[in-house]
Amino acid sequence: MLGRIGQAFKGAMLLDFVGAFGLGMKYMIAPKKTVQFPHERGPQSPRFRGEHALRRYPNGEERCIACKLCEAICPAQAITIEAEPRADGSRRTTRYDIDMVKCIYCGLCQEACPVDAIVEGPNTEFSVETREELYYDKARLLDNGDRWEREIAKNMELDAPYR
Ligand code: SF4
Ligand code: SF4
Repeated sequence: MLGRIGQAFKGAMLLDFVGAFGLGMKYMIAPKKTVQFPHERGPQSPRFRGEHALRRYPNGEERCIACKLCEAICPAQAITIEAEPRADGSRRTTRYDIDMVKCIYCGLCQEACPVDAIVEGPNTEFSVETREELYYDKARLLDNGDRWEREIAKNMELDAPYR
């Protein structure tokens, strides 16, 4: 009796081993899911919400018209804007700050903007060493816009049919 139980147990162990070995082989030859970041990168959606940027028109003029909709809608109260009219009567910001530590990357500022000025670009690599460096001012945001404009414009074009 005990001999039969022992044989059944060995049989079950063998089946388990064969099953586990087969599973291991299956994943060994399957396409790998991981990438060797930063040398390799996975695909990124055109809707990806990364580092913020303020965009300009092709003639260099700032897009932002200081309507403050982004500041009003920001649930984290991360945006601070001050504005005044220029000599030509147009309204422009004199201060545009984003506290990136407060930001929750919800994208509502981008959604609210009537002129596609504030956007969350594709950049993910903006880690810093101090808290102060994550307090972005207008110059930093415009600089981001200038640097990433090509990618941002392409992503907006790709996403346009779905909006
Ligand atoms: S992404 Fe959201 S939390 Fe961040 S600044 Fe824009 S509205 Fe505020
Ligand atoms: S970034 Fe857009 S929503 Fe914000 S103040 Fe400027 S124009 Fe208005």
